[in-house]
Amino acid sequence: MEKLLDNIIQTNRKYVEEGEVASYIPELKKGNKNDLGVYVTTLNGEEFSAGDYETRFTIQSISKVISLIIAIMDNGEDYVFSKVGVEHTADAFNSITNLETKNLHRPSNPMINAGAIAIVSLIKGREPDEVFERILNFTRKITGNDNININREAYISEKATGDRNRSLAYFMKSTGVITNDVEKVLDVYFKQCSMEVTCKDISRIGAFLANDGVIPLTGEKVIPRETARIVKAIMTTCGMYDASGEFAVNIGMPAKSGVGGGIMAVAPEKMGIGVVGPSLDKKGNSIAGIKVLADLSKELELSIF
Ligand code: GLN
Repeated sequence: MEKLLDNIIQTNRKYVEEGEVASYIPELKKGNKNDLGVYVTTLNGEEFSAGDYETRFTIQSISKVISLIIAIMDNGEDYVFSKVGVEHTADAFNSITNLETKNLHRPSNPMINAGAIAIVSLIKGREPDEVFERILNFTRKITGNDNININREAYISEKATGDRNRSLAYFMKSTGVITNDVEKVLDVYFKQCSMEVTCKDISRIGAFLANDGVIPLTGEKVIPRETARIVKAIMTTCGMYDASGEFAVNIGMPAKSGVGGGIMAVAPEKMGIGVVGPSLDKKGNSIAGIKVLADLSKELELSIF
């Protein structure tokens, strides 16, 4: 397995040249365009890695999966999906038009920014600090890594420049999707996106979902199987934004990307896969990371279709 991963990283390294690191959040410009790494966690506890798997990066949109799980646990799926839809969108992850013109002003799904911000507003907690604390603790639990923390520079950088997200959130407040304090909700959203991880951490999140909500290493059941099923379905149709259809055809795994360069993928009943490659394509997905997952999916026959 390690040999296979090594080969796949080597063959696909060239693709980092074809993308760019994210720059709209100034701190992300510090990411190394040439990094490419992969980590696999199988359900029987074996772990394999190759390339720059020790690279640290901010989790960004992969955190949307975590807050969705917590919001469903807090409110039940019917209430959550009365606020945020579950339909794929052909627009970009931070699209504004999509919000105004579709679904009676309800965000299309929890994986785009508008949907994710609305999801954060549903998580219970007296103060924003408590809400974020719950997200952080949940992340630490399912990764088995108590050292996960926010990258303060990334958080401050996004908070200072996140006006597009601010506009989405205020629009949703005007239509009643968000009912609480917009700045407080955004603060939690910016913090959850700034959690710093490695591809080992995200492969463990993938393994937890591959195992239907039971942490493979400890056997602890953290969420109902049904919640894991819903989340994987949404990842399959929406997790790679407006590239989700192509990803389903070529790779065929529930997955979630982030603009920090990470992709978390799930091979149900088999393994979780974490990839890092900060060089992104135009849609904000790791350009070489997608190639790595395509090769891995073919070699190990991981497509669910
Ligand atoms: N924090 C980023 C944003 O809100 C997350 C986007 C992403 O990873 N696609 O723009």
